[in-house]
Amino acid sequence: MSDLRLPAVLGGSPAFDETVPLARPSVPAIEEVSADLQLILTSKHLTNGPFVARLEEQAASRLGVRECIAVSSCTSGLMLLLRAAGTTGEVIAPSFTFAATVHAAAWNGNQPVFADVDAATLTLNPEKVAEQLTERTAAILATHIYGTPCDVESLSRVASSRGVDLFFDAAHAFGSSYQGKPIGGFGRGEVFSLTPTKPLVAGEGGIIATNDTDLAGRCRIGRDYGNPGDYDCRFIGLNARMSEVHAALALRSLETLDERLDRRNSISATYAALFRGIVGITLPQVRPGDRSTFKDFTILVNQEEFGLSAIQLTQALRSEGVETRRYYSPPVHKMRAYEHLELGRTDHLEVTDRAANQVVTLPLWEEMRDEDPVRIAEAIASIQIHAAEVASLLV
Ligand SMILES: *Cc1c(COP(=O)(O)O)cnc(C)c1O
Repeated sequence: MSDLRLPAVLGGSPAFDETVPLARPSVPAIEEVSADLQLILTSKHLTNGPFVARLEEQAASRLGVRECIAVSSCTSGLMLLLRAAGTTGEVIAPSFTFAATVHAAAWNGNQPVFADVDAATLTLNPEKVAEQLTERTAAILATHIYGTPCDVESLSRVASSRGVDLFFDAAHAFGSSYQGKPIGGFGRGEVFSLTPTKPLVAGEGGIIATNDTDLAGRCRIGRDYGNPGDYDCRFIGLNARMSEVHAALALRSLETLDERLDRRNSISATYAALFRGIVGITLPQVRPGDRSTFKDFTILVNQEEFGLSAIQLTQALRSEGVETRRYYSPPVHKMRAYEHLELGRTDHLEVTDRAANQVVTLPLWEEMRDEDPVRIAEAIASIQIHAAEVASLLV
């Protein structure tokens, strides 16, 4: 890599003239969806019809699970799943996740309890979960963060040792696999998100996957207010239906999923090889035998070794025309909505706090040019070479 290049933040020319976005969904061509749209509009069946049914069938067959229930979002899917399972009590969840994981438990009146993540994979640490188990624990809700599969076996062992339910927030993980088996069939249920930054795209939407047919039945009723059809609601449900248009988009996205996941993995491998040469940058690990969707490509910046903090690096990258985010910072326990839960506790989320301090998420989308990750890594290398000057400028 060239060390002659001056970082843009110090007056050099930016790595990109046009800002590289963090994420951009791949969408089907208009001709591909116009026939679907025509069918939907002429049938006048706009929600929860044949496209939703087909999506559920195809998703279940792809994931190797008995039942998939299409819903309006991953958040509503998680809310429904916990409601349908009758979860009452404490729910152990990571704080290093997107807020919606924890919101779903809190909306059901469950008390969230945070457990720390594993330093290598940044997924929920089963030993730390075991430390948080009490007689009040009703369930464990783990996140396959960035698409990295959790340590499913150890979590299952911890859950079954105490007879508590295990659920997964699989928002990032449609297409991930754990030791050769698709994410979707683990625990009592898993929920995927189909928003534009997730691997499978409907615009808005979610999919609940489960092998528990009773639970699936309750989720189906639950997404229709709890009404099985006779208007005698069996429990307090939601409107969490998916529209036919969203299902049609999701079906198209499913057709290209494998190809797109290969592309995401290949871009990630390019990034990983380039970062091997940069001191102070490490990468969250995917365990051997597992496969990630790489919903996000996140690096960890060690300020002492790299010479700049994660925040300073994001500022310097903005000048280069590189959009970044800091997934997931702040961690959920530091959000104002949840800080009351952690009063008086300071040390049990050490890895979470460190990771939240160090994360920088870089652009990764399927239609990126091959040279984009290379130029982004080069820009980061040149920023590091000039770290002292950049730091004094950015404070
Ligand atoms: C995006 C996301 C969600 C929420 O998904 P929606 O479909 O937007 O409700 C939940 N959990 C995680 C980890 C997410 O990243």
